[in-house]
This record gives sequence, C-alpha cells and structure tokens, in this order.
Amino acid sequence: MKSDFTYDLLIIGGGISACVFASKYLNNNIKKKIALIEIGRGLGGRSSTRISKGFKGWKLNHGSPNLNITNSNNNPLLKSYIDELIENKFIKIDDSEIFFLNEDSNTETIKKSEFSCGENYLPLDSMSRLSQNIIESNNLKGKIDFFFETLILDLQFDDKEWVLLSKNGEKFKSKYLICSTNLLLHKRSLKILNTKQIPLRKAIPINNDKKIDLLLSFLNKQSFIPRLTFLIYTNTNYSYKDIYPKKQRYFYLKNNLENKYKFERIIFQLQGNNKLGIVVHSKNIEFINSYLNAKDEEAFKQKIITNFNDLFEENSIVNKLTFDEKISIMKWRASQPSGIAVPLSLQFSRKYRIGFCGDWFEGEGFGRIEGSILSALILEKKINDLIK
Ligand SMILES: Cc1cc2nc3c(=O)[nH]c(=O)nc-3n(C[C@H](O)[C@H](O)[C@H](O)COP(=O)(O)OP(=O)(O)OC[C@H]3O[C@@H](n4cnc5c(N)ncnc54)[C@H](O)[C@@H]3O)c2cc1C
Repeated sequence: MKSDFTYDLLIIGGGISACVFASKYLNNNIKKKIALIEIGRGLGGRSSTRISKGFKGWKLNHGSPNLNITNSNNNPLLKSYIDELIENKFIKIDDSEIFFLNEDSNTETIKKSEFSCGENYLPLDSMSRLSQNIIESNNLKGKIDFFFETLILDLQFDDKEWVLLSKNGEKFKSKYLICSTNLLLHKRSLKILNTKQIPLRKAIPINNDKKIDLLLSFLNKQSFIPRLTFLIYTNTNYSYKDIYPKKQRYFYLKNNLENKYKFERIIFQLQGNNKLGIVVHSKNIEFINSYLNAKDEEAFKQKIITNFNDLFEENSIVNKLTFDEKISIMKWRASQPSGIAVPLSLQFSRKYRIGFCGDWFEGEGFGRIEGSILSALILEKKINDLIK
C-alpha cells in the first residue's frame, strides 16, 4: 500500500477553519495539489454532528449547535463571506427561541450568552454538512485529497519541504503547511500524542524564527475549557408541551442554576424522523470529574435525567424524561481555548512556509466559529498576497 504522498500544500485538521481556508485557497489556486489530513472520520471538528449507526435517522449537533457572528468591527472579509454562505444556502438566519433560565426557572428571552450575541445562523442541514458544503463549494469537489482517521504525530522541516509522519506510518511531504489545530504546537500534545517534545518546537528549534518562538510562547499560556455533552435520544412520543415547529430551541442556565443542575445549556434539536433530540452541555468541573471517576456509567446517566427533570419541573414548555431514554456522552478535553489568544500577526512564517488558523487567534470571535472562519479568511489572503 502507498505510504508516501507529496503535495504543494497540506492542511492538518478538518474543522470549519480548515474547510474555509481550503475552499478559498483552492478557488484562487486551482492547479495546486492539496490534501487535508484529519484524525476524525469526517469534516467538522468541534462543530460537527453525531450520525451513529446505533441510532438510525438521528443527527445531533454535539459540538457547536449553530454559529453567531458579532462582527462589531464590520470586517468586510467576514461580512462578504457570511453573505456568500447565505447566498449558497449553506446557512440561514437562526430565529429559534432562546430562553435564559434564571434562579426561579423563569425565562427571559434577552440574548446574553457569548454563543448567542450578534446575528445567529443555522446550517440548512447539519453542522457537519456545513463544513462539507464549504469545501465542496465553487465546484471544488474532487480537487482535494482527504485523509481521514489519520493522526499526525511528527513534523519535520528539511529546508525544501515539510515532512509529516502519521500514526498509521504514512509520510506526507509538502512545500507549504497549514495547521488549523494547535495540538501539535501546544504542551498538551506531550500527553495526548505521547511525545517528548512539542512537534512544532522539534521541527523548528528555538531562535530560528522569532515569529514561531513568539507563537509558541503565547500558546504556552493558552488554556482550554473541558466540556461534556450528553446526547439524549428521546422516546418516540416525547414532545414539547406546546407546539413549536422550528428545528432548534435553546435553554441557557444562569450561573446559580448552572451550579445547581450542572448544565450550561440545553439544545432541543428536531430530527428528520420527527423525534426530538436533546443535547445538554456541561462545563461544571465537579460534574465532569464525577463522570470521569464514575464506576457506574448508567447511574451517572440517571443523574443527568434527574437533574433535567428537576430543572424543568415547573416549566410550561418542556416535558420530563422517563428514565429509559438512551444517552450517549461526549467528552471534550479542549472544547474551547481560553485565557491568552494568539495575535494574528503570528499567523504565517514565510521562512518556514507554515500558516495557522483556528479559533485560538485573537479577536471578538476568539473561542468560537466566528474566530475560526475569520482567521482562515485572513490567512488565505496573507498567503496569496505573500506568495504571488
Ligand atoms: C461542546 C462545544 C460547544 C460549542 N459551542 C459553540 C457555540 O455555540 N458557538 C460557537 O461559535 N462555537 C462553539 N464552540 C466552539 C466551536 O466549535 C469552535 O470554535 C470551532 O468549531 C473550531 O473550529 P476549528 O476549525 O478552528 O477547530 P477544530 O474544529 O478543532 O478543527 C481542528 C481539527 O483538527 C483535527 N486534529 C487535531 N490534531 C490533529 C492531528 N495531530 N492530526 C490530524 N488531525 C488533527 C481535530 O480532530 C479537528 O477536527 C463549541 C465547541 C464545543 C466543543
């Protein structure tokens, strides 16, 4: 089996930022040979959709359920890209109901979360499909090679080219490299990838490029928010107490309630099969640890349902669950970057022909899809301007 591949440009990661970058780059450089390498089974990364064989007909957005664009600086690059996504019918305005549950479980409908301020958009299909649509737009399907279930463990730069080694033993070579994930740049890679040195640091030793040194030192101070998401596959007859035809409905918990019930937000997602999926997010460290230390996962799942039912006890919209729903739990070690953001001026090293994008760059979209998209658009523009 072939295990050596050579490209003009390689992209590590298949999240939304990689897809935006790839589609824009290809559109301007149609003759370039490019490939995208992703450890997951498909595109979308942290904004993707669970389509499991065990639950036929269900599509649950288990990371980011939608996207919100604040863009208060009115960035023309971002604005015109969002317009393009709307024109292509990849996204539409999300006018779903958003409730903010306060201490008495009463609801307010004022938009107050970092995930709901600005304009909210919903993909026409699912979040994973959005990333696929982006990469397939402008008739670019088939112009890029995909390597899924491929984990890059090691990076080398040998003057002429980048050489990437995967866990499966493949070797990828390219003139340019784009990292849309910061895993290979961050100290958490030591544990996750079981390596002795941060892969990018190993490839570019200290004092060779000021930009890379600075980038790594900013990242050294970046931390990440762990999260759990609970995917609840409700029973056939489960529905709202009222009639609500839209696809999604959001409930955010204010601080006191979040501490009490351990949930951050609850997203109801109407399915193609008319069932009502429920995705619950939690970033409560105590709750996350109790899951990680749980000896009996079933007991933990029952606790989720108990908390859900207690929370919605008096609610006029949401029905209680019956305890025989199936629940699947998704653990995010690094759901969002937090703390220090990386300056956009460090996005590209000409000397090493390496570029970076993702939600870990500075700006009002830091930690969100907005930041991922904008950093990808800016990087693509920088590369095109610099290389031509
Ligand atoms: C539970 C949850 C809820 C969220 N809610 C919201 C929200 O409501 N609104 C919002 O705007 N944002 C939200 N976010 C954040 C949002 O999902 C991210 O900002 C966005 O998806 C990041 O996209 P990205 O392309 O920058 O990174 P990613 O999606 O992380 O893409 C990077 C990809 O690289 C792959 N990868 C990493 N290392 C390697 C390697 N060594 N080899 C091969 N592949 C590799 C990863 O598998 C991943 O697919 C949420 C995130 C989570 C997890």
